[in-house]
Amino acid sequence: MDKLQQIYDTCKNCTACPLHQTRTNCVFGVGNPNAQLMFVGEAPGEQEDLSGTPFVGRAGQLLDKFLFAVDIDRSDVYIANILKCRPPKNRDPLPAEEDACIGYLREQVRTIKPKIIVCLGRISAMRLIKPDYKITREHGTWVEKGNFLMTAVYHPAALLRDPRKNEEMLRDMKVIKQKLNELQ
Ligand code: SF4
Repeated sequence: MDKLQQIYDTCKNCTACPLHQTRTNCVFGVGNPNAQLMFVGEAPGEQEDLSGTPFVGRAGQLLDKFLFAVDIDRSDVYIANILKCRPPKNRDPLPAEEDACIGYLREQVRTIKPKIIVCLGRISAMRLIKPDYKITREHGTWVEKGNFLMTAVYHPAALLRDPRKNEEMLRDMKVIKQKLNELQ
């Protein structure tokens, strides 16, 4: 059995934090298991919980538009979240929930071995890049961590709330595409 499937099989039965009590589905991740580019958001929302797939709601559709705009095929990337189960009413993940869940993401990264990891939003950047990450000021900046490059962009849900940020998002996405091309 392939490694990602093995991790998923454990994850879907996980009871390591209280979020398992309210989930409909474990939202593990989706995309190319050999992706060079991986996006990591914070947690599933309502549509994601119902479907079991990350980024399928309005925010996910907006992310698709940005991927299309810079000529990145969604089927070439892998998309996951820090938390695999939905926090009630989409509240921010609690540190204890992140601690309980982060091992699944680590295993996903170890298995997929992406070259670029893009944090979608503040929560993901604070967990994966640095605890005091300021998304408004630091989005689009790059750091090298281990074997991969990392950056963060606005969470698409933040763009839905404030479309004035779309221009900055497009600029960041163009740089991601450029970095991806440089790896080819
Ligand atoms: S959020 Fe993560 S740690 Fe919590 S029950 Fe779901 S899979 Fe397990």
